[in-house]
Amino acid sequence: MDFALSETQRALLDTVDRFCAHHLPPGEVRRRDAAHLPPYDLLPAMGEAGLFRLALPEEWGGIGADWRDVCLVQERLGWHGYTAASIFNRVVGFGAASLLAYGSDAQRAAMLPRLAEGRLLIALALTEPEAGTDAGAIATRAVPAPGGGWRITGRKCWISDARGADVLLVAARTRAGSKGAEGISVLLVPPGTPGVAMTELPKVDNHCMPSFDIGFDAVEVPADALMGEEGRGFRHLMSTLSASRASLAATTTGCAQAAVDAALAHAKARVQFGRPIGANQAIRHRLADMQMRVDQARLVVRHLAWLIATGQGCRREAAQAKVIATECLQYVTHHGMQILASAGYAAESDMQRWWRDARLYTFGEGTNEILRDLIARELGL
Ligand SMILES: Cc1cc2nc3c(=O)[nH]c(=O)nc-3n(C[C@H](O)[C@H](O)[C@H](O)COP(=O)(O)OP(=O)(O)OC[C@H]3O[C@@H](n4cnc5c(N)ncnc54)[C@H](O)[C@@H]3O)c2cc1C
Repeated sequence: MDFALSETQRALLDTVDRFCAHHLPPGEVRRRDAAHLPPYDLLPAMGEAGLFRLALPEEWGGIGADWRDVCLVQERLGWHGYTAASIFNRVVGFGAASLLAYGSDAQRAAMLPRLAEGRLLIALALTEPEAGTDAGAIATRAVPAPGGGWRITGRKCWISDARGADVLLVAARTRAGSKGAEGISVLLVPPGTPGVAMTELPKVDNHCMPSFDIGFDAVEVPADALMGEEGRGFRHLMSTLSASRASLAATTTGCAQAAVDAALAHAKARVQFGRPIGANQAIRHRLADMQMRVDQARLVVRHLAWLIATGQGCRREAAQAKVIATECLQYVTHHGMQILASAGYAAESDMQRWWRDARLYTFGEGTNEILRDLIARELGL
């Protein structure tokens, strides 16, 4: 593994920095968070900057990049703020990765070009009121519709960006009487389909990523809405989540580095008792521990990106990277809040936003408890 950035990768990161300086400077990130404003309007500009093409093979309009580049971009977007990073994850981790892994040629042809241009957003609708960590317990069902296709009935909850999405990847049970992971399929459902009803769920953080409760009342979709193999949807969705966990791990690593940078700057600038607070061992050791955690997270993310890019199995490593990076972000924002004290607690502080946002990631996209189980299983326990 070579850790040096290539010229192309450096140019890529410059593109991300220019994009964020123009569209998402720190003040704009704060404004959007306070106004609960999702970044959907930025998707075409991200597409124009070529960011979504990174995850695509050349035959689908890609630019010869791979997941090492995707994770670098994801990390840098995370450093600039979760706003653009989360939408990049949704397009690349949920959208492109799913279509490439188990979409049909027709589905890829219909969606990948739009996705590359930032004109298609895909949301994942898996969780239900009685099926959170135990995703195999979903009860939403799809039965053959009289005129062909599928009729979906059920309820999903906490679905991010559902109203802004063009398509929902809906997990539904297509085999009557099936249990657990068996008999589940993935269906593509445009949110405007008759019978789909959404209610936004108020929540404590991640305000630029609205979440929805969704009812499906005899929602009819055509036969070609089925994505991947009928009855094997659970496995398909686990592959989607593996890709998006890599994206999430990279994002949280970037965000954690931003939190360390801000805490370090504050430790140098804030003077108490006639000297910078960073001169005190209690603060110095905190910062040393914070940076060590971020460097560890970055290493596991780079390793994971290399495994994905070289086509190697990485279920365990994807779970590990997600656990390590999300817990790193909680650690550094917790200590960052202590170092900034009242300056961090102020509403305009970035630290308090990172600290609030960070709370979600240790249970979103697979709780860290269930991922530890997965890791133990992969170890043979
Ligand atoms: C803001 C937000 C956005 C989300 N976005 C999406 C989305 O876009 N799409 C989507 O499908 N879902 C989404 N989710 C749902 C998310 O994936 C679930 O919250 C998550 O899977 C956990 O489910 P739960 O909240 O029902 O917790 P529960 O399943 O009730 O778990 C509660 C606690 O018990 C623990 N636990 C449960 N079972 C075990 C076990 N066997 N061993 C050890 N511990 C266990 C869990 O780890 C957790 O700590 C989102 C959630 C939130 C809050």
